[in-house]
Amino acid sequence: DSEGKTPTSIDGNTFVAMCLARADVDKMFGVVGIPVTSLANRAVALGIRFIAFHNEQSAGYAASAYGYLTGRPGILLTVSGPGCVHGLAGLSNAGANAWPVVLISGSCDQKDFGRGDFQELDQIAAVEPFSKYSVKATDISKIPASVFEVLDRAVSGRPGGCYLDLPTDVLHQSVTESEAQKLIDDAEKSRNKELIAKPIVNHSEIEKAVALLRKAERPLIVFGKGAAYARAENALKKLVESSGIPFLPTPMGKGLLSDTHELAATAARSLAIGKCDVALVVGARLNWLLHFGEPPKWSKDVKFILVDISKEEIDLRKPYVGLVGDAKEVVEKIYKEIKDDPFCLSKSHPWVEAIAKKVKENVSKMEVQLAKDFIPFNYMTPLRIIRDAILAVGSPSPILVSEGANTMDVGRAVLVQTEPRTRLDAGTWGTMGVGLGYCIAAAVASPDRFVVAVEGDSGFGFSAMEVETLVRYQLPVVVIVFNNGGVYGGDRRSPEEITGPYKDDPAPTSFVPKAAYHVLMEAFGGKGYLVQTPDELRSALAESFSARKPAVLNVIIDPFAGSESGRLQHKN
Ligand code: ADP
Repeated sequence: DSEGKTPTSIDGNTFVAMCLARADVDKMFGVVGIPVTSLANRAVALGIRFIAFHNEQSAGYAASAYGYLTGRPGILLTVSGPGCVHGLAGLSNAGANAWPVVLISGSCDQKDFGRGDFQELDQIAAVEPFSKYSVKATDISKIPASVFEVLDRAVSGRPGGCYLDLPTDVLHQSVTESEAQKLIDDAEKSRNKELIAKPIVNHSEIEKAVALLRKAERPLIVFGKGAAYARAENALKKLVESSGIPFLPTPMGKGLLSDTHELAATAARSLAIGKCDVALVVGARLNWLLHFGEPPKWSKDVKFILVDISKEEIDLRKPYVGLVGDAKEVVEKIYKEIKDDPFCLSKSHPWVEAIAKKVKENVSKMEVQLAKDFIPFNYMTPLRIIRDAILAVGSPSPILVSEGANTMDVGRAVLVQTEPRTRLDAGTWGTMGVGLGYCIAAAVASPDRFVVAVEGDSGFGFSAMEVETLVRYQLPVVVIVFNNGGVYGGDRRSPEEITGPYKDDPAPTSFVPKAAYHVLMEAFGGKGYLVQTPDELRSALAESFSARKPAVLNVIIDPFAGSESGRLQHKN
C-alpha cells in the first residue's frame, strides 16, 4: 500500500468469522473438520464461544434450543457432505419447533462439483425441506450480505432454520483487510430492516377479541412456547390476574406463569379445554398437542382467538378472531383494552370454582400416588424426590430438560415449573435424543441457572458421548437417567411373540439391563452416582445440586413400571 506495507490478507474463513462477530453472534455449536476448522478458530479469536461437539446432531439440537432460549439465532457449524446431513437433524427440529437456527456448512469445491469431489453433495437441495431461506456464497465478496441475510431471516416472522453454504474454494479466496471492512460496511448498510419488523395488529381486531372475552362464560387462556419465545410472561400475568381467567400452558409454556398459580388449570386440563367457550390461544399451534382444537377434546362450539406471529398459521386454523402479531405486544394491547373497562371473574365464579375444584381433586389424587416409596423405583417415587429437590433450589430455578416416553409424560405432571423458559422437552416433533444438546445449550445460554435433565435411558443413549462435552467445558449440568433397561422398559414380549430364527436376540426395545451409565461419566472425570433407593437419590441430588458440576445419576427403574409409548400408545 502507500506506506509500503503488504496489506493483510483475509481468507474466506476469517471473513465469515468477522461477519458473525459484527452481527453480534456470541456462541456457536458444531463439529469442526474440512473445510471449516479455521472458521471456528477465527471465531474464537474474535470473542465467539465455540462449543465443540462429538456429533452434529447434538450440536444442532443445542443450536435450536439456544435460539429458543435467547431469541437470537443459534449457530450450527458443520463440515461438508455428511456433516451437513447430520446437521439436518438440528435444522429440521428448529423448523418444527419454530426456533431460530442458522446452519453454516462448508461444501465441496465449486469447480469439482459433479465430478465426485471430497464430501460432495448438493447441500442447497438437501436442506430445502427444512430451511426457510438458503444461500450459497459463490464468491468471497458475497459473504457479508449472505451472513446478515441468513441471520435476519431466521428470526423474521415465524422463527425457523436458515442455511448458509460456504464452498471450499470461497473459504480459500482472500481479500485485503480494507476491502473486507468495506464489504462488511456496505452489506450492513443494505440490510433489510423490514425483515425483522413485527406485524402491527389492527386495533379493531383487539376490540373484537376483548368483546368476545367479556361475553364468555367459560374463558380460558392457553399459551405455548411461542409466547415464551416472545417473552410475553409479564403481559400474560397482568392479563390473567386482572381478568381472573384461568390459564393452561402447553408443556413448554409451563412456567410463564407459575404452575403453582391459583388460576393454573394444568391439573384440570381435560375440563378446561373440554368445557371452555372462548379460548385465547397465544403462541401455540392448534396441532396434535392441542388436539387440533376439535371435538371430542374441545367443545364443538368453542370460539378461538388466536395470537400468532405467522399469518399462515391463522389462515390454516381459521379461528373466530385471528391476531397476527408478536405475542407480548398483542397481549399487552388486549390487557390495555380491558383495563379501560375492567372485568374480573371472581373466585366464586362457577367456571373458576369448577376448575379450582377439579385441580384440587386431581392434585390430591396424584399426591396419594406420589407419597408411597416404591423400591424398586416406579416413575413416581424418584420424580417426587427430584421435584422437591428442584423446588428447594428456589430462584433462579434450574432449567429442566426432559425426554423419554414415560419419563417425560409422568414428569410433565409431577415436576413443577415456576419460571419462564425453564422447560425443554421433545417438543412439537417428539424428537428423542435432544437431551444432551439441550442441556449444553441451556447451560451456555443461562449462566445464572444450572441444568437438570430428567430423561429415559433411550433418550440419553442417542448422544450419551456428549457427557464428555459437559466435562470438557465444566458445564453445570446434572443428568438424571431413568434406567429401565430399554425403550419403554426393555423386553415386554409375551412368550408366543418370541419366535423365528432370531428369537434369541434381545428384544428391539431392550438395552443391557442396569447399564452403568454413571461409569460412562466417570470415564471423563465427571461425577457418577448409582441410585436405587430414595436415600441414595436424595443424597446424590443434594451433592450434585450444590456442586453444580457435570454429573450423571443412574437411577434404576423397575423395567415393568410405565406403559409402552407413554401416553401415545394408540399411535404405536
Ligand atoms: P406449543 O408447542 O407450546 O404448543 P407451538 O410451537 O405449537 O407451541 O406454537 C408456537 C407458535 O408461536 C408458532 O405458531 C409460532 O408461529 C408462534 N410464534 C413464534 N414467535 C412468536 C411471537 N413472537 N409472537 C407470537 N407468536 C409467535
